[in-house]
Amino acid sequence: LLADDGSPIPTIFAEMSALAVATGAINLGQGFPDEDGPAEVIAAARAAIANGVNQYPPGRGIPDLRLAIAEHQQRFYGLVLDPERDVLVTAGATEALAAALLGLVEGPDDEVVVFEPYYDAYAATVALAGARLVPVPLRGPHFQPDLGELRSAVSDRTRMILVNDPHNPTGAVFPREVLEEVVRLADRHDAIIVTDEVYEHLVFDSVHTPIATLPGAWERTLTISSGGKTFSETGWKIGWVTGPADLVDAVLAVKQFLTYVNGAPFQPAIATGLRLPDEFFRRAASALRAKRDVLGDGLRAAGFDVYEPAATYFTVADAAPLGATDAAAFCRELPARVGVVAIPLTAFVTAEHRADYATLVRFAACKRIGVLDEAASRLAALR
Ligand code: PMP
Ligand code: GLN
Repeated sequence: LLADDGSPIPTIFAEMSALAVATGAINLGQGFPDEDGPAEVIAAARAAIANGVNQYPPGRGIPDLRLAIAEHQQRFYGLVLDPERDVLVTAGATEALAAALLGLVEGPDDEVVVFEPYYDAYAATVALAGARLVPVPLRGPHFQPDLGELRSAVSDRTRMILVNDPHNPTGAVFPREVLEEVVRLADRHDAIIVTDEVYEHLVFDSVHTPIATLPGAWERTLTISSGGKTFSETGWKIGWVTGPADLVDAVLAVKQFLTYVNGAPFQPAIATGLRLPDEFFRRAASALRAKRDVLGDGLRAAGFDVYEPAATYFTVADAAPLGATDAAAFCRELPARVGVVAIPLTAFVTAEHRADYATLVRFAACKRIGVLDEAASRLAALR
């Protein structure tokens, strides 16, 4: 995590967002929307601050948010949660992940199976927990795991299988047979499943299936989500983890010494968001789908090979047809060449597998259509 001179190595998102600011380029790197989320949610945060919801909330999160999280899981997925024991509010999905790893993984003999490429925090927090990361590759064009490779990655040394569905950075959605295999393997080897579902509502052509709803999954699964993506307020950092009380307690045991509590006035606001009508969630997905299409058309017109995502903020494109051989170098030069920032997929893989993703680039679609149009016309200059 530290460079040779002892300074922290910036994440790829910090590096690329700084480059966007320095060059004035359009930032299609870090995934954050350029418009505010629902007015009701913002008004609820304002009202909470005005009404004195400004001191430490309870350790597990304010009761009404925990109730809203439980109601949301029941409304969309039919899961019945006890808001007192099966729900914990965290400082974003990031803290939920870190606290789950630190709380449930013992050390160097424990292996954590992770689908690769992976959101960068996964490898960093597996390292902080002192465990060993065992990658299972997702390869284009559909970025699904080979079930044989998945089976051989899981063993009695596996303490945790970390799932991210829908998947960042590839935009893949895991089909039921992949999720079933994860549950079967976790059961056979007595592993915990931790699933990061922050993009649960940003699915384009199918319905999200939480792995926790599969037979035999609930008692060994922690499900993580967050308000950041669903309600377009990535800076509020209200996340949550749900699952059986004993696993949630293990996360709380760590969380209480990481941040103790977080985001008091944002908690009732997220409760308001989680109670919005179904129509809000449908519209959020269809608006993003239209953006995905604009971005995909622009990338194809510029000469990239595009992997159409089934979900999430992101589209992966291959820059090889444009002559690129190294996505990291390509992304560092892109702002100066055409005024656009993107992220190389090599930032999301273990060193030994970089060559397999050498020319792949991730672009964020979560921007206004006008911004995506402008990015597309800039990228057209690459041809
Ligand atoms: N998991 C995934 C897969 C993500 O893409 C992100 C980034 N938004 C996070 C977790 C972090 O979420 P949060 O901002 O709620 O910590
Ligand atoms: N989750 C967002 C992404 O993948 C932002 C991540 C970050 O800045 N750490 O772009």
